[in-house]
This record gives sequence, structure tokens and C-alpha cells, in this order.
Amino acid sequence: MGSSIYFPVSALAFSALTTIIFFIKKPIKSIETKIYKYLLISNFCGLIIELLCTYAASIVNVNPFLSDFILKLYLVYNVLWTLILTMYVYYVSNEKNKKLNMRKDKKSAYLIFLLCSFIIYYLECNLIIKNNFAVRYTEGPSVNFTYIMCGIFIFFMILFILKDKQNIKNKKFIPVYIFIIMIILGILIQKNNPGLLIMTYVETLTVSIMFHTIENPDVKLINQLELAKDQAEKANHAKTDFLSNMSHEIRTPLNAIVGFSQCIENATNLEEAKEDAKDIVMASNNLLEIVNGILDISKIEADKMEIVNTEYNLKEILDNLVKLIIPRIGEKDIELKTDFAVDLPEVLYGDSGKVKQVITNVLTNAAKYTDKGEINFNVNCVNEKDKCRLIISIKDTGRGIKTEQIDKLFNKFQRLDEDKNTTTEGTGLGLAITKRLVEMMGGKIVVQSEYGEGSTFTIYLTQEIRNGLYKKEEVVEEEISFDNKKVLLVDDNKLNIKVGTKILKEYNLDITPCESGFECLNKIENNDKYDIILLDIMMPKMGGVETLKRLKQIDGFNTPVIALTADAIQGRENKYLEVGFNGYLSKPIEHSELKKVLSKFLISNKIEKIEAVKEEKEEKMDKLDIDYLKENDIDVESSIELLGDIEIYNDTLKDFLNESNDRLPKMEMYMENEDSNNYAILAHAMKSDSKYLGFKKLAELSLDHELKGKENDIKYIKEHYSELMIEVDRIINIVKKYLGDE
Ligand code: ADP
Repeated sequence: MGSSIYFPVSALAFSALTTIIFFIKKPIKSIETKIYKYLLISNFCGLIIELLCTYAASIVNVNPFLSDFILKLYLVYNVLWTLILTMYVYYVSNEKNKKLNMRKDKKSAYLIFLLCSFIIYYLECNLIIKNNFAVRYTEGPSVNFTYIMCGIFIFFMILFILKDKQNIKNKKFIPVYIFIIMIILGILIQKNNPGLLIMTYVETLTVSIMFHTIENPDVKLINQLELAKDQAEKANHAKTDFLSNMSHEIRTPLNAIVGFSQCIENATNLEEAKEDAKDIVMASNNLLEIVNGILDISKIEADKMEIVNTEYNLKEILDNLVKLIIPRIGEKDIELKTDFAVDLPEVLYGDSGKVKQVITNVLTNAAKYTDKGEINFNVNCVNEKDKCRLIISIKDTGRGIKTEQIDKLFNKFQRLDEDKNTTTEGTGLGLAITKRLVEMMGGKIVVQSEYGEGSTFTIYLTQEIRNGLYKKEEVVEEEISFDNKKVLLVDDNKLNIKVGTKILKEYNLDITPCESGFECLNKIENNDKYDIILLDIMMPKMGGVETLKRLKQIDGFNTPVIALTADAIQGRENKYLEVGFNGYLSKPIEHSELKKVLSKFLISNKIEKIEAVKEEKEEKMDKLDIDYLKENDIDVESSIELLGDIEIYNDTLKDFLNESNDRLPKMEMYMENEDSNNYAILAHAMKSDSKYLGFKKLAELSLDHELKGKENDIKYIKEHYSELMIEVDRIINIVKKYLGDE
């Protein structure tokens, strides 16, 4: 150790100043700044230790143990400081490497440091005192080891920097270069003048240079602000690109809609107008597809798309998809071949909606971009314990994709082969959404394609296997009529009112249109009564939320109010329920959703109706008294035994009545025309029916007439015809009474 204390004293003052300024400033939260903080603190401590070395030299004879401890502590400090600087270089040179595991690296650094400290304390270190304490320094294996270790660390610093050529120009390494040059110079100077120890001084200088160039909190703040500005600008660019793409995509079908609508306005014949209307429907569907796609992609990009897992039956979904895709193939000469693994689990747990959406997208593309040949839709699975790894592959013999274009396939709004695509409808969003959804579900999608030959899209997805059988949700498709219940439809947009009224009319509702929140309030204040209010959210002057607030202030107001909005982002529903709406419908209104909401809020009516129908049925059932049949010599019991149960018997009775309406006039006609053959056929039918239904007497009489018909005995038939008809009438009257048809 050097004897001159001028260096450490001035360096200590310098270091203290830098450390104080550093800690006064607002701290910057970054790993490299954290490492720099350790560099600064250790340097400050190192300078103090260096000053303590003067004291250690003075007590070497009195307390050699303490003296040796302090001298070696100084060596330990040098190793520590260089190690921290190496960590700094390591981190900065690996900044872009996201997988960097700082915790593990920190552990290794501690280990190296402890090992070095142990060796330094273990090895010998001699204090050399010359010129009557004027020159003091240490030498020996411990000191040499320190130099070697510092040299190794510096070697690694250079290695880390050179690892990536771009690092060399990194401004953050300038102080490191200065340190390396100074330390080499320092060692050379020290060789000639061992008492002049300037190592700590060089370290202080390095820390200061770092502070004034790259680690100054102010500079760091500015850097961070610039980075944030860059990111904001990038996000803004992306948004602008997105908007311009979107408006372009939306404008195309919109132009078609406007154009064809004008054509309809000027159309002179109905056929022409119908053709134009068809094109409008097509363009509208395309527009709707684009808007849905945009909503999906923005939901995904805003992290608002959620995976909603439920139990589902994949086989059922696959079968439905096949049914859906057949109309898309249409008239094309394409054979759809399916092969679904037999060991597909009955119940899977995952987001069935999204699984369906991704397969639909790929399958629809295969149908769209293939003109003839085959589409192979295969689903395989590997089942491991409670996991099912699905391999869904869709292979077509379509136009294929050029190798250089495969990378662009999953970009949003990217349609390939534009010249061929002009006649195929699409938005270029399908695969972008598919890929993101598959990744959200933890899977991946892979494409193999040969231009002109065909493509294979393979989706790998893992779903959970659930035990048990899948309970299919019974969807009862019933014709719902809401019996003229009163609906107040509030929307400032006349077109929306028109469309809404048309849809609602299908449910037999009495609709009152209303064009503003004010008008709605007036109606309720004037005591107009409604069973439900459908209230648009976005209205000028007074929006839906405000209108609802005021409605709730009206005494006795308790009509259910449903929010109508085009805001389809998930989670919004709760927002509307929170502000007091009873339900939520997104525009354009979907029939199934509307049905659900109407059934929910006009349900009492539904129940009443169902009850009424039930009562009516029960009343009728009361009339179905089999004793009455028995009393009239009808063998009900053996018939029921023959037919299975009373319900089939009753249904067959109804059939008999209907059949008779048809049969009897014909029999009369054949009798009069003396067409005994046909007469016999009808008599035979009547005999069979009668036997089944227990009309014993009628069965006997019909048999007679059948046989006589076959014998061509017209005379007998004519003579006994009235006898037969009396029995037929008797039976028909009994049956009608029994069924309650009278
Ligand atoms: P869209 O079909 O709406 O244009 P997609 O994102 O689904 O958008 O597909 C992007 C593009 O990739 C399509 O425009 C088409 O050029 C190409 N492509 C997708 N699937 C196939 C396929 N099976 N065969 C050939 N080309 C395909």
C-alpha cells in the first residue's frame, strides 16, 4: 500500500460529493443504476479503508493481527469493486437479453467474492515500510492474487463488450474504457513507484466519470423520457396505420352499400331492386365481418380479450363445423374428408368459443382459396393424464402460398396474392386473429404450403380432460310471442328505430318509438305505461345513462330498462348494470340475445302463458276418459297393449279421424261407381285401423265389406252400406267426444 495519503483524501472528498449528489436526486429504477449505486458506495468505503491502512501500518508491531486484517480488507475491497464493475458491464452488454437471470448472476458474484476474500485472507501479505514510514506498501501472494483477480475481471469486461459488435460503440462503456486505460497506466506507474498507490484514485475517477456521463440521474431521466416518447410515437404510428387500414377496409363495402341503395331508389323494376338488395346484404355482411374482426383484434391488442373456460364436447363442435363449412364449399368441385380420432375425450375444458373460432377461420380459408380437389379436416389427440394435446390439421389442394409470403400470412390486414384475391371476399384479419387466439390459449399454428399445390394449416392446442359425460345444454327453439307487451324503443337514430321496430314486431310486441331521452322522460312522466324500455346509450344532449338516472327519480318508476349500445368491448356489460340498467343489448341487435333479454323481463307473461296452455291441456286430458270408451264397447285395453301406451293410442285415434275424412267420401264414390276393387281396399284399411283401435264391431263390419268387395258383390255392399256407416258415425262421435274435439 502506498504511503501517500493525499490521493485517498482528495478522492474521498470527491467520492463523498458524488455519493451525496447521487442520493439527493430522485432514484432511477433500473438494474444498472442499482449496480452503479453499489459501485459508488463500495468506492467510498474503499477510500476509508485505504486511509485506515495508514493506521494499520502504525500498529503493525502492537497489533499485527488487526493490522493484517485492515490491510487485507483493502485488497478485498479492490476485488469487490472490480467485480461490481464487471457485473455492470455484463448487465449493460446483455441489456436486450430478456432471459437474463439477475438473481442467479448475483448469487454467482457473491460466491466468487467470498472465495476471493477467503483466499486473500488465507494468503500472506507483507507490509513494507521504507524511509521511516515515508513509503509504505504491501506485497506478497495475497497482493499478487488481488492483481490477478482484478486482471481476470478486466479480461471478462473486455470479453463481454466484444461479444456483440454493437456494444463497442455503446456510450455506456466509455467510462469502462477510460478505467481500463487508467488502471493499466496506474499499474505501470506503481511498478516504478510502489509507494504511490493510485488504484483507488483511478476507481474514484471512473465512478465520477460514470456519474457525469451516463449514471447521472438527470441524464438517466432524460433518457427514460426519450425512450417513453419513442414508444408513444411508435404506438401512435401503429394506431394511425391501423385507422387508415381500417377506414380503407370499411369504406369498400360501405361504398357498395351506398351505391346499391341509390340504385334501389332509382330502380324501375322489382327484379333489379332485388338483385341490388342482395348485393347490399353481401356488402353488409362483409362490413359486419370486418367490424367484428377489428373489434376482436383491438380487444386482443388492448389485452381485453379473455379466455373463458367451460366444459365442452369437441366432437359436437367438429360436427357442427362440418355442417357449417359445406355451404361455404357450395357448388365447387371439392371433396371434404374428415377424420376425427376415436379417442377424443368426451368432455374437454377450455374456451370452446375460441377453439371454434380458430378452426372456423382456417377451414373457411381452405374453402375460400380452393377451387377443386380436397379438403382434409383431421383431428388427432394425445391424451396424457388430464391433458389432451389436440392436433387439428386442415389440408387443402388450393392455390397455396408463396414461400416468401408465408411470413406475412399472420399480419393483420395482409391479403396475399392480391390480384387473385379480388374476387374472394376477405379482410386479411382472419389469420391474424387466429394466431393470436391460438397463442392466448397456449397453443401454436403452423403452415406448410406449396404454391399452386395447396396448404396445410396445423393447430396444436392443449386442453384439460374432464371426467364424465357431457351434458348437452338443451336449446329449446320455441316460437315466442310476447302478446303485445308494450316496448318503448328510445334511439335518436331513425334507421336504428326502423330496424329495431322491425325485429321487435316479429315477437308480437307493441312498439312505441321515441327519438330522445327527453321524449322518453315525458312519456313516463305522463304516466304512459310500458313493460320494458330499450334505451340507446349514445344520444345527443341527454345520453342513455343520464336519462336512466332521471327516470329512476320519477315516483313509482319500476319498468326494466335495457341499455342499447354499439360498444361491444367485453366487460362493458357490468358497467351498464352498475349504473342501474337491468340488461344490455349490443347493436346490431342479435335475435338470440334479444330473445334472451325479452324472455327474462317479460317472463311472467311467458310463465302465465305456459301455465294457461298447461291448464288447457289438463282440462282436455280430463276429457280423455278411457272408461267412456269401454262403456261404448271399445276394447281400449287390448289396443293399448298392442300400441304401447295411451299417448300413442290417442295419437292413432286422431289419425283415424283425419283418415276417415278422406276415406269415407271415397268409399261412397267407389260404391256408387260399383268399383268393388278400390272399395275393398278402403274397407280393408278401415278393418285394420278398427282392429288396432279396439272398434270391434266396426272391424267385423269392415271385414265383411272387404270380402264382399273382393267377391265383387256390389249388391251386398249397397244393401249393407248404411249399416256400416251408422257404426262409423257412432265410432267417430265417440272418439271426437273422447278427444274433446267437440
Ligand atoms: P382473408 O381470408 O380475410 O383475406 P386471412 O387472414 O384469413 O384473411 O388470410 C390472409 C391471406 O392468406 C388471404 O388473403 C390469402 O391470400 C392467404 N390464405 C389464407 N389461407 C389460405 C389457404 N388455405 N390457401 C391459400 N391462401 C391462403
